Amino acid sequence: MSADRRSTRRLAIEGGRPVGNATVPSWPQLAPRALAAVAAVLESGRWSLPGVRRGGPSAEECFARRFGQFLGAPHCVPVNNGSAALVIALEALDVGAGDEVIIPALTWVANATSVLAVNATPVMADIDPATLCISATAIEAAITERTRAIVVVHLFSSVADLDAITAIGKSLGIPVIEDCSHAHGASWRGRRAGTWGAVGTFSMQEQKLLTSGEGGAAVCQNPELYDRLYQLRSDGRRPRAHTVDGESDLLFDGSVSGTNYCMAQVCAALLDAQLDLLSEQNDRRAKRAAVLDEVISAVPGATPVSALDGVTERTYYRYALRIDPDGFDGVSAATLCRALHAETGLPWQPAYPPLYRHPLYRPRTKRRFTGGGPSQRPAPDAYPEAERAHREIMTLQHPALLAGPDAFDVLPAAFGKLRRHMARLRLIDRTGDA
Ligand SMILES: *Cc1c(COP(=O)(O)O)cnc(C)c1O
Repeated sequence: MSADRRSTRRLAIEGGRPVGNATVPSWPQLAPRALAAVAAVLESGRWSLPGVRRGGPSAEECFARRFGQFLGAPHCVPVNNGSAALVIALEALDVGAGDEVIIPALTWVANATSVLAVNATPVMADIDPATLCISATAIEAAITERTRAIVVVHLFSSVADLDAITAIGKSLGIPVIEDCSHAHGASWRGRRAGTWGAVGTFSMQEQKLLTSGEGGAAVCQNPELYDRLYQLRSDGRRPRAHTVDGESDLLFDGSVSGTNYCMAQVCAALLDAQLDLLSEQNDRRAKRAAVLDEVISAVPGATPVSALDGVTERTYYRYALRIDPDGFDGVSAATLCRALHAETGLPWQPAYPPLYRHPLYRPRTKRRFTGGGPSQRPAPDAYPEAERAHREIMTLQHPALLAGPDAFDVLPAAFGKLRRHMARLRLIDRTGDA
């Protein structure tokens, strides 16, 4: 056998020749009017929300209005990141010391740390295997007399079962917060995600579908809640009813103690321009995802994660599929993702580890939480679906869904190659080698 044949036959993670090398567009992508919008803010001399008003509304106010309109939410409070949006959502709903907040067991750490930040206790609930989002049944089982809020995350490319979850919240008088950090522009029964709960939160961090590098927003329907969200974000300051040129729009007058979570004006102007791209990009990603669904459905042992019937617009922060462990000799999704990434150049990534054993979830390392902090290790069988998702879910990051129409042509052959090397993959899986 020639050296060339050998290199083709070895797995790419072990130095063999890859099956293909897809070109994935870089992210973020700059909107046509973004540079001019940012330059205009810099030249205006008003770089912050509390800064002096100079002939017209702030970039922040313009973006808040436009993003609220896009979502169909009457009120929007931009903030400096998505974690801060979660904190002010909890504070606006008066969640604090001694309270419990139900969060999904499979999500980014901010959903736990935001609850800890307001001195409340995160109570994790298992996920629904169909959506990978928090399960309505698990929420019901986790409710106690101390439960003061439920945080739903519309994970990857799913919208959680909002019918069931909002019904639970309504029947018990417990507010629902929708974390839409993965779901900018998704809709449930014709209404946008973020407008079903008491508060909807968004992250505009660099990897998200709408981004200004760092950024976030909280939206709501209720004017009193908006008044609280606004003050909680602006050191307690309220907006002036009648704005005056040469003066700040914010008054030293408020009813709640706030923190400075204001979004910088350059970020607001950037987001306003980036929002021009969102709907068209969401459409393009959805079309590519439909192609990918067909490719994946033809791979033995792999099944796309599909949307619930209530989803009327589906967004793709990450495309997700589930592998049947028997079909892949028990090899984990993490190892398959690494191997498939090496064979194709496509950015495959496993799902998050379950939150209670996420390497960044370390509540006991902060003195603020010691004693009152939650224990990190639940019973081993407490969250079977979150554990199973970590073993079985492979995800593809959204920039790959903006690639050319032939980007996924390589996948059948790449999966075929992995299947021929299951013995090696099992070994790599066990030892963490390569
Ligand atoms: C990114 C993210 C956040 C936090 O957003 P930051 O802007 O990074 O603070 C919160 N929730 C989820 C689900 C996220 O993915």
